[in-house]
Amino acid sequence: MVRRVVILGAPGSGKGTQASRLGKEFGWAHVSTGDMLRAAVKRGTPLGLEANEYMIKGELVPDDLMIGLVMDRLNQNDCGNGFILDGFPRTVPQAEKLDSMLGRSQIQLDGVINIDVSTEEVVMRLSQRLVCANCGTIVTTDKNVNTGDPCIHCGGRLVRRKDDEPETIRHRLEVYEREIRSLIQYYEERRILKDVDGYGSMDDVYKRIVSALEIYPVNA
Ligand code: AMP
Repeated sequence: MVRRVVILGAPGSGKGTQASRLGKEFGWAHVSTGDMLRAAVKRGTPLGLEANEYMIKGELVPDDLMIGLVMDRLNQNDCGNGFILDGFPRTVPQAEKLDSMLGRSQIQLDGVINIDVSTEEVVMRLSQRLVCANCGTIVTTDKNVNTGDPCIHCGGRLVRRKDDEPETIRHRLEVYEREIRSLIQYYEERRILKDVDGYGSMDDVYKRIVSALEIYPVNA
């Protein structure tokens, strides 16, 4: 079932986890711009070095860099089976470029999911979040795990993302609030926005997304 979906939500809303599961379940490419940028930083590519200047401060990477990166990615074969965009678009100019790029291939987005969670909740989730430096698995510090502990999946080291420090979290959320209103309006006007309550278990939120998109798991 080919679908092209965007998932919006504040940092810490759980959009990455949900996008990854949707991608696996439905065979869509999970395109996470945050993951792509972090991989570029790790490899030390020119894009990574430039993007890192913004990322460590919790600022948005300039639109032209982001648009080039995403356009190249969406042209790869696996995106032909559908994709779920996680972390892009973050601004209206990015949304417009995405529409015009898809339009050139006579395709359009099938849905835009907006995961709704309060600011207090995401601040709490982000301040408790650790990630595996090797495989990217996310865990929370309230489960008796700490920085430096081994990842249960691959044994890699659990670390706090540099941009999950309290000061940077606050700034990332300000940046998010600044941009999200106009982005939501953009998709509302196009009648493809679907608000999803982001509280509850990961399974609950997943089921709400699947129902909002009117898609059904292969094994259901
Ligand atoms: P994320 O993992 O989605 O929270 O992204 C981490 C960081 O990568 C953000 O705080 C931005 O600095 C940068 N980033 C990711 N996606 C975008 C985007 N679409 N536009 C601009 N910056 C982005």
